[in-house]
Amino acid sequence: MQRRQFVQTLGAGSAVAGLGLMSGCATSAGRGAKVVVVGGGYGGATAAKYVRLFSDHNIEVTLVEPNAAFVSCPISNMVLGGHKTMADITVPYDNLSKRHGVKVVRDTVASIDATKRTVKLASGGELPYDRLILSPGIDFMWDTLPGMAKAGAADKVLHAWKAGPQTVALRRQLEALPDGGVYALSIPLAPYRCPPGPYERACMVASYFKKAKPKSKVVIFDANDDITSKKGLFMKAWDEHYKGLIEYRPKHKVVDVDAATNTLKFEFNDDFKAGVLNVIPTQRAGEIAVKTGLATANARWCEVDFLTFEAKAAKNIHVLGDAIQIAPAMPKSGHMANQHGKTCAAAVVSLLQGKEPPSLPLYANTCYSFVTATDVVHVASVHKYDAAQKTMLAVPGSGGLSSAASALEGEYAMAWARNIWADSLA
Ligand SMILES: Cc1cc2nc3c(=O)[nH]c(=O)nc-3n(C[C@H](O)[C@H](O)[C@H](O)COP(=O)(O)OP(=O)(O)OC[C@H]3O[C@@H](n4cnc5c(N)ncnc54)[C@H](O)[C@@H]3O)c2cc1C
Repeated sequence: MQRRQFVQTLGAGSAVAGLGLMSGCATSAGRGAKVVVVGGGYGGATAAKYVRLFSDHNIEVTLVEPNAAFVSCPISNMVLGGHKTMADITVPYDNLSKRHGVKVVRDTVASIDATKRTVKLASGGELPYDRLILSPGIDFMWDTLPGMAKAGAADKVLHAWKAGPQTVALRRQLEALPDGGVYALSIPLAPYRCPPGPYERACMVASYFKKAKPKSKVVIFDANDDITSKKGLFMKAWDEHYKGLIEYRPKHKVVDVDAATNTLKFEFNDDFKAGVLNVIPTQRAGEIAVKTGLATANARWCEVDFLTFEAKAAKNIHVLGDAIQIAPAMPKSGHMANQHGKTCAAAVVSLLQGKEPPSLPLYANTCYSFVTATDVVHVASVHKYDAAQKTMLAVPGSGGLSSAASALEGEYAMAWARNIWADSLA
């Protein structure tokens, strides 16, 4: 079996493998139960679809999501490099309703009443639930960058760490930068969404500069002590393809931004001015999870039971995806959120049918990074539930890293994206 098939088999089968307890019993029990899913990203869309599938469509599922369509963060760095368009990374929600009977409500959940088991929508109205699944992704800790509260700052200094309008706006800023201009990218201390994502972004912006404005420069300011993912592979790519074009500066923690003068301010280093500032701020669980009191780890991330994804702070509320306090070595990734979604869906269906949830979650993660328009590197890992420690642990000897970047892996990366979009949304 080829590596790609192995990874896909693991990805598709991992949660399903744990469904033995449910098979053949889903037609009557659970009928009429109501599940509300908050957030139609990688975690929420998957959970919504799989609750319907695993319950033989007996459980009612309502998905609340403010955006009209799903826009993928994976591959969005390719849009910044000019190698893909927004249309390439946008998937409609239609199939969730047409094929799976998920009720998709275009709205934002404003508050949750865990006692009454209802959610309040921003537009008014309430939805009752028996079980609530929250996959709100991340929000930014803007209070760590006081200057960003000034009028106009957030429109000028972009993060583009949630794919959508900011991806388009940042691409425009790069296009408007004169040849010889400087693009400065700042990376927060880990944990943050997608460990290799910023270094991939540096490659993509540099690939654009190399072609369109070769006198320009990418300067990476990393708050971490070193490159946090695929270090050797990224350094090799920077040396081979972008010598003199990318400069990497570790141990540079941004503590403020002056948007009026496009200046980064650091904890210990001199200020830095650039033509385009791209600041990825420090992150925490999405606002709705924090304000509901579910972010029990340092008021940042939601602690969960890894067998069910039920929040430690609230009964009947499950949290997954980037919003959770991760297990050791578990990345905040779309691939992980998709598999949390299946594990959580299986557990929720079992619980609503009065059964024990599956007890052996096992899942894989693969993160691909484009280092040029065609060539890609990957890192993979396998995570298994450890009953003694009640957490997910990396399986010894599993996973791995590309030996070198290749165009074949570029094809795998696009196939991965198409597969996971279909698995979550088709
Ligand atoms: C540049 C970049 C590249 C990346 N590349 C990869 C990659 O190659 N591979 C990989 O696996 N991962 C990658 N990731 C990480 C991946 O995007 C995230 O880990 C993933 O999106 C997390 O899924 P989620 O469901 O937790 O959150 P999201 O996918 O962000 O979904 C959250 C959803 O919740 C909605 N929401 C929030 N609050 C509310 C509310 N109150 N009411 C209703 N809806 C709400 C939001 O609108 C959003 O649609 C990348 C990320 C970035 C930024």
